[in-house]
Amino acid sequence: MRNCAAVLLLSAWGGIAAAHAGCFDVQVPVFRELRPLVPRSPRQALAEANARIAALPKDAADQEPRTVAALYAIRARAYGQMTLTHPERASALAGLALLHDPTDPLRLELLASYANSFSSAGAVTTALAEVKQARALVRPGSRSDICLQISEGFMNQLRARVSPAIRELTNAYLQSSASELPEARINASEGLAVALRSMGDGREALKFIDQQIQWDKARHARDDLSGGIYFRGEILRSMGHYRQAIAAYKQSRAMSMSVGDVQSTGYTDLRMCEAEIALKHFRDARLACNRAVPVLAAGHVTAMIKETRVQLAKIALGEGHPAHAVRILDQVLRDHGADMLAFTVAPAYLTRAKANARLHRYAAAYRDLNTYLRLYQAHNRANQARLREALEIRFQAKQEFERNAILRRKLQAAAHRATKQRQLLDWMEAAGVAGALAIALLSYILVADRRHRRQLVVLANEDPLTGLPNRGYTAQLATEALATAWTQSRPLTVALIDFDYFKTINDQCGHAAGDHVLKEFAQLSRGALRAGDIFGRWGGEEFLLVLPDASLDSALASVERLRLLALGIQVPCPEGRTEGLRVTFSAGLASTADGLRTLDEIVARADVALYEAKDAGRDGVRISRARGGPDAEPLRA
Ligand code: GH3
Ligand code: MG
Ligand code: MG
Repeated sequence: MRNCAAVLLLSAWGGIAAAHAGCFDVQVPVFRELRPLVPRSPRQALAEANARIAALPKDAADQEPRTVAALYAIRARAYGQMTLTHPERASALAGLALLHDPTDPLRLELLASYANSFSSAGAVTTALAEVKQARALVRPGSRSDICLQISEGFMNQLRARVSPAIRELTNAYLQSSASELPEARINASEGLAVALRSMGDGREALKFIDQQIQWDKARHARDDLSGGIYFRGEILRSMGHYRQAIAAYKQSRAMSMSVGDVQSTGYTDLRMCEAEIALKHFRDARLACNRAVPVLAAGHVTAMIKETRVQLAKIALGEGHPAHAVRILDQVLRDHGADMLAFTVAPAYLTRAKANARLHRYAAAYRDLNTYLRLYQAHNRANQARLREALEIRFQAKQEFERNAILRRKLQAAAHRATKQRQLLDWMEAAGVAGALAIALLSYILVADRRHRRQLVVLANEDPLTGLPNRGYTAQLATEALATAWTQSRPLTVALIDFDYFKTINDQCGHAAGDHVLKEFAQLSRGALRAGDIFGRWGGEEFLLVLPDASLDSALASVERLRLLALGIQVPCPEGRTEGLRVTFSAGLASTADGLRTLDEIVARADVALYEAKDAGRDGVRISRARGGPDAEPLRA
C-alpha cells in the first residue's frame, strides 16, 4: 500500500510499506479484477469486496478458500491504503487462516499486508521475522522472493535500519529490472525514494519517485498518485525548493480531495504550512496550518497535532509575537516532547529559545538552547552514523545509479549542517547573546563538525590504498574539466592506463607486493604531473589520467614519463621469484579533438585503444581515432 499518512509519518525516520502496484503474482480472478481498483479508489474496492463476501454461500470457505482469501486480501489492501491498520491486519489474518501452501503468492500477499499493518519498532521486528521465514521457502530470484525482499526493505526502514533497507531495496530494484518485473520494480523504487531522502539525497530520491509517479499516472491510480506527488513535495522541501514543494503539495491535496481522502489533506496542509514558513509567507502558512488542525485532531494523531502547533508558534514568532509563541510551546513541550516524533522535538526547543531571547529572558533561552543542542547533536550523530553505514552498503551495491550520488549526498549533508550553524549564529547575533556558555557550545559544535566534515569528504573522495581520487571523484573532476575544455574550446586528452600481467606480480610476489607497486606508482606519478592534471584510480590496477589543455603530443610525453617511472619500480619479491618481472603498462588515449563530448564516450574510446595496445603485445600506447582511418594508431610496440 501507499498513502500520504504513512509516507508522511514515516518518511523522516523510516519508510512506508509497499505494494500499491500489486507486487505478488496472484492469479485468482477476483483478485486480478479488484486489485487495480485499490489505488484508484480504496473505498470503492472495499465496498466491492465486502459486497462479494456478503454474497458468498455459507460453505464458501471450504469450497473455494482461495476466492474468499483473495477477497480478504483486497479488503486488507484497501484498508491499508486508507491507513486503517487494525482492520487491515484483521482482514489479512482472516485470509491467511484459509491458506496453507507457504509459497502460494496469494498467501504471501496476505502476509505482506499483515506485516504492513504494524508500525511500532517491536511489532515490526516480529513481523519481519515471519516474512524472512516465508522468504526462505521461495525460490531465490523469483518474483515472490523479490516482493518479499521489498517488504523486508520497508520494514527495516520502519525500524530505522536504513542500511539493510537500502541493500534489500537496491537488490530488489536491480533484480526486478533485470527480470522485467515492472510491478516489483516500481515498489522497490518507491522504497528507494523514501530511503534516499531519509539519507539526505534528494536528487536521487526524485529520480525514483518520478518513476513511480509516471507509473501511477499511466494507470490512473489517483490515490497513489496523490501520495507520490506529496512525497515529491517532501523531497523538494528537504532540498530547499520550497515553491516547487508547495506546488506539489497543492496538486496532491486536490487529488486527495477528489478521492475523498480527507486525512491526507491534513498532512499535506501541515507540510505546506512548513514550506510557507520557510518562505516567510506567514499569512499563507497560518491558513494551511489552521486547515490541518481539525483534520489531524479528528484522526487523533497527537504527534502531528503538536507538530502543527510548533509551526503556529514559529508563525507567531515570525510575525513578532514572541510571548504568544512561548505560550504555545510551553503547552507543546509540557511532557518534554515525549509524545512527539523524535526529530520534531529539537526544533521546538530552538523556537522557544529564540522566542525567550526575544523577550530578554536569557536564562530560559540558554536552557532551551542547551536542550536543543543536545537533541540536535544526538540526532545528528545518529544520522551521520546511519549515513556512513548506508554509504558503505551502496558502495558495495551496484554502481549504475550510485556513482556521483555519494559525493552529492556528502556535500548536501555538509551544506545542511552549515546552514544550521549559520542560522544559529544569526540568531545569537540577533538576540545579542554573547554568554560564555553559548560561545563555548557553539565553538564546540563548529569544531567538531568541521573535523567530521573533513573526514566525510575524504572518505567519499579518496582511494584508501593510493590516496588518489577514487573512481567516483575522478569521474566528477574529469567531467568538470571536460565541460571547461568544451566551453573554452581547449583540447583535453584522456589516458586510460592498465598494468600488464599484474596478476603475475600478485601470484609470484604476493598481493602485498602488488599493493606496493600501485602505491609507488601513484606517488611517483603524482609528482611527475602538472598541478592541473587529474590522476585517479579507476579500478584495480587501472588509472585514469586527464590532461586539460594538452595536445596529443604533450599527452604522449606525459604518459611516457609515467611509463619510465613504472619501469623503475622495485617489486618487493621473495628471492628467486623475480625472474622476468617487469612493471609495465599499456595505455589508450582519446581526445576531445575527435569531437568526443561526454566522459563516457571519451573513456570508452580510450578503452578500445587500450585493448588494442594489449593485443599488440602490451607495454605500449595507442591513440584512438574517433572518425575515419584505422581505429587506433600504433605508437610503441
Ligand atoms: P593484462 O595485461 O591483460 O591487463 O593482465 P592482468 O593480469 O593485469 O589482468 P587484469 O588487468 O584483468 O587483472 C588485474 C589484476 O590486478 C587482477 C587483480 O588480482 C589485480 N589487482 C586489482 N586490484 C588490486 C589491488 O588493489 N592490489 C593488488 N595487489 N592487486 C590488484
Ligand atoms: Mg585491469
Ligand atoms: Mg592489467
